[in-house]
Amino acid sequence: MTYHFDFITALKEANKIDEVITEAGVKLRKAGSEMVALCPFHNETRPSFSVDVGRGVYYCHGCQASGDVITFIQEYHGYSFWEAVEHLAKRSGIEIPPNLDPNLRRGFVFADGLSYVIRECFTARDRAVGYLISRGFQNAHSLVIRYGIVDGKRLNGELTRRPELSWYLEEIGVRYKGHEPFADRVVFPVYTRSNVVVGLAGRTLKNIEPKWLYTRFEKTRFFWGWQGLRPDIKTPILVEGPLDVLALDGRALAILGSYVSGAQAKQLHNYEEVILALDGDEAGRKGTLASVKTLLRHGKFVRVISLPSGKDPADMVSGEIPEPQDWIVWLRGLYDDTLTSRVKFANVVGGVLKGLPPLLQMAYEKTAKEIL
Ligand SMILES: [Zn+2]
Repeated sequence: MTYHFDFITALKEANKIDEVITEAGVKLRKAGSEMVALCPFHNETRPSFSVDVGRGVYYCHGCQASGDVITFIQEYHGYSFWEAVEHLAKRSGIEIPPNLDPNLRRGFVFADGLSYVIRECFTARDRAVGYLISRGFQNAHSLVIRYGIVDGKRLNGELTRRPELSWYLEEIGVRYKGHEPFADRVVFPVYTRSNVVVGLAGRTLKNIEPKWLYTRFEKTRFFWGWQGLRPDIKTPILVEGPLDVLALDGRALAILGSYVSGAQAKQLHNYEEVILALDGDEAGRKGTLASVKTLLRHGKFVRVISLPSGKDPADMVSGEIPEPQDWIVWLRGLYDDTLTSRVKFANVVGGVLKGLPPLLQMAYEKTAKEIL
């Protein structure tokens, strides 16, 4: 992708990386030709986060977070590229040129197109509420999150009035060759932490595959549910999809996929510990293990809620959600007491711990030995 190079260069010059990072509350101190700090993206007691002010880049030897001032803002706040650009432009009083390269503008235009769809064409709320109530969400009327059903007829009407919309709705996948793939789906907008819409997630009402359909956006960079997450929650529960979030009533975020990505883990810098509650099938267990690895590498404590096979949190609205266990105890529970199983368990633990700081490895190895 090519961006408006001069503008981006000016933006970076006007926003000194050390100042921006300090403003985010990271305490930088000089160490030789660089500046170092405790990494804001993973928990640590000795600084492995370094900033090269001259080159305008940062790098963490602990979690490999790296980038320039724009990346820092994106990852620290969970912003899209465009939002980070806007944030820095505002911070430094630089005006965004109206004739920006279309590739840079894209992110903004798409968000605008999506907000438009949500505002104008999200009707049939009764049908959406009806669906949610049938899934056990009795409080569907009062949900703070926005959801609805894309009204195909109305969308078509709007498109004759605003034909320029048509192009980008096709681009992002709200329309496909003049059809509405999101028709007959309950649609949940995906917002960044700062309330900019980046995509739509649509759950079929009629058992049409795929069960969930998404507009084109980098799903693995975002969580769904920031807007509904209760501020008093210290340990968020990470689940697969929006319905699981609704089932957990303000305590959860959805990863919109089968495992937690590095980009997502970095956005959890306010939390020391997280709980994983992915589906109880084979794929869910694999995703849980992959997520544990990523989260440990970002310095999180991880517990796991082990759901019965074939269940997800949304199936358990009225039932009891089991108590979370430390990830290592959860993992042990997947193996029986035969020698072969114990060896398998030991091997998997070894793989998970590989590359973690030695003391942390020792702490987990001690627990693994106790329960072997
Ligand atoms: Zn780090």
